[in-house]
Amino acid sequence: MQSFTLQRPSGLAEAARLGAEGGEFIAGGTDMLQLMKEWVRTPDRLVDLDPVLDPRIEAGPQGLRIGAGARMEAVAVHPEVARIAPAISEALLESASPQVRNLATMGGNLLQRTRCGYFRDAGVAACNKRRPGSGCAAIGGENRIHAVLGTSGQCIATHPSDFAVALVALEATLHLAGPDGERDMPIHHLYRTWDTHPEQETNLRPGEIIAAIQVPATALSRNARYLKVRDRAAFEWALLSAAVGLEIDGGTVRAARVAMGGVGTKPWRMRAVEAALIGKPANDDSYAAAAAHATEGAVARGENAYKITLMPRVLARALALAGGAA
Ligand SMILES: Cc1cc2nc3c(=O)[nH]c(=O)nc-3n(C[C@H](O)[C@H](O)[C@H](O)COP(=O)(O)OP(=O)(O)OC[C@H]3O[C@@H](n4cnc5c(N)ncnc54)[C@H](O)[C@@H]3O)c2cc1C
Ligand code: SF4
Repeated sequence: MQSFTLQRPSGLAEAARLGAEGGEFIAGGTDMLQLMKEWVRTPDRLVDLDPVLDPRIEAGPQGLRIGAGARMEAVAVHPEVARIAPAISEALLESASPQVRNLATMGGNLLQRTRCGYFRDAGVAACNKRRPGSGCAAIGGENRIHAVLGTSGQCIATHPSDFAVALVALEATLHLAGPDGERDMPIHHLYRTWDTHPEQETNLRPGEIIAAIQVPATALSRNARYLKVRDRAAFEWALLSAAVGLEIDGGTVRAARVAMGGVGTKPWRMRAVEAALIGKPANDDSYAAAAAHATEGAVARGENAYKITLMPRVLARALALAGGAA
């Protein structure tokens, strides 16, 4: 690991200023330190966010406010989170391991880097995300875990966060603190797709910090569910996942929010699936017909073709789960 200076700011404003001056943030360190040990990331200055981030989890009539410093485990087992947004509890309980969840923060979870093995191996020359302009070893290489939606000739990596998929379905908002003040950002604006610049992953400005996450409390959030498919039952990222919320009245679907993980270069909102559900009877036939829209625009790159086969099946199952809860 390259040697570095650790800066300890006294508050968020100072942290944002240090970030804008070129310092890299660290919170729980579960992703950052791993990448530093592998020489994938080589910051010479780290700004320690842990003491200045809000760790509180608050619930009110408007919904949840989750401080970005809250630990994944604390959020996963919080009774109000399970009541207001069970998809979040489910997504977190199926993430990582209790040890990792007790250290990892919610802000860090949203900004963890891709699991593409070529990105995480500094010995591989061709990775546009790590070394802009160097090519993409995953196109034509080992790409079983890679994306089928939102890809380009530059990069086909997925975003790995389970929590982010649930937040996209629940239309959460991020509260950001930057060197020029604070602002709110809808979660679906956080991540970029990468036609030309895969190294630019988010729409955060230099020095901007995720300070808190707000999740609205609605009938839909209370019924939403999270389904994850992975290679083994613990300690593993999603091959595919789905976060689904349905509002059902008199046996008819009145509203739907659907997002999938593991399939896109960012957590993928499935608007065509949602549109196909509205006004339809809440039954397995409607769920299967709507889920077929999930693969619109999907492109396989070889080893990841199975994802296109699995997407409608996983989604139909997630819709049935959410339908049962509605
Ligand atoms: C064995 C293992 C299994 C895992 N399995 C899963 C899984 O199944 N699903 C899943 O979703 N995740 C999984 N993870 C990833 C884990 O959830 C993340 O590593 C963790 O959430 C990152 O949080 P952190 O606080 O440790 O972030 P750090 O490692 O400290 O930081 C990560 C990144 O976020 C930035 N950052 C951190 N906080 C902020 C903030 N508030 N504002 C702006 N930038 C910030 C840092 O600069 C850095 O770039 C796994 C991790 C491990 C080690
Ligand atoms: S998919 Fe993206 S992260 Fe992986 S090797 Fe290609 S450019 Fe790098």
